[in-house]
Amino acid sequence: MNGADGGDLFTDVFWKGPKDASRVLVISSGTHGAEGFCGSAVQSQFVASGLTLPDDLAIMLVHAINPFGFSHLRRVNEENVDLNRNFIDFDTELPVNEAYRDLNHLLNPVEMTPEKLDASLAEIMRLQSTMDFLTFFKAVSGGQHEFPAGVQFGGLEPQWSRKTIERIWDVYLSKAEIVVQIDVHTGLGPSGVGVLMMAANPDEPHKAITADWFGTMMVSPRPARQEDNAFGGYMNAGMEQCLADTWVIPMTLEYGTEPPEVVLRAMIEDNWLCHHGEIDSERGRAIKERLMRVFYPDSKVWESQVLARAEEVFAQALAGLAELSVASKETT
Ligand SMILES: [Zn+2]
Repeated sequence: MNGADGGDLFTDVFWKGPKDASRVLVISSGTHGAEGFCGSAVQSQFVASGLTLPDDLAIMLVHAINPFGFSHLRRVNEENVDLNRNFIDFDTELPVNEAYRDLNHLLNPVEMTPEKLDASLAEIMRLQSTMDFLTFFKAVSGGQHEFPAGVQFGGLEPQWSRKTIERIWDVYLSKAEIVVQIDVHTGLGPSGVGVLMMAANPDEPHKAITADWFGTMMVSPRPARQEDNAFGGYMNAGMEQCLADTWVIPMTLEYGTEPPEVVLRAMIEDNWLCHHGEIDSERGRAIKERLMRVFYPDSKVWESQVLARAEEVFAQALAGLAELSVASKETT
């Protein structure tokens, strides 16, 4: 596995603070490869800000969780797997996304003319109008394990990037008492706005604690049954399972870029290009440019909004974590 320039690929770890710190703030980038440009920028800004850390607190940055996708401008990895659908238990029966089956021919076409793409998107939008938001989102984005060349393919086994990040967690974080994790993504929501998202039930202490730190967040309750799980296989859930003895507060910082139909169009085009098209062609390069720009808009205003929001969120997380102890888990 090599980068687009033929070179080696790496997932890098930056650590600042005591090696045995009981509290660690983790910021990760590039879980969805092509979204890594934004994640990398906010990580670089954070390092350059010359932080001073309170005692017994460390910072860990993980750069390029999916280095193949980052280098080759793909949201997915070298096996067309969406890593944020890959953190499931592969020893049990794979989840089935029945609704995706009806959409696969639209999302994963073999032939793709501009007219056909327009027609596919119009049909997807028509279907969306017949479903409630969660049903539609689950169908398109919930992940699937049946169509290896389709979109949101969760894979048939744990991927290289999953095994790598699990090893990183094990080596660096297994002694930590509290880990605040922020995984940086782009492509969903209003342009330039960075929304913090988290899975937590109302009675979980980190729901109230993070509300104090950050104000408004998007918190979704954990599904009570597997069938209710709209988005299985998230890396953050994998971290909670991997660090079972650690209090993990897992969040996603998601920045909006373009309207959802524009992002979806770029993802369909890129998926087609990688399976049926010619990447090294005029059309291929145009598709790659569009994919890059739906995850990192060519806009100084967008960039400055994103950096300012990251500075705010990371400062809030650091200040909050500096005051947090395991005892607050029981008393909240
Ligand atoms: Zn993402």
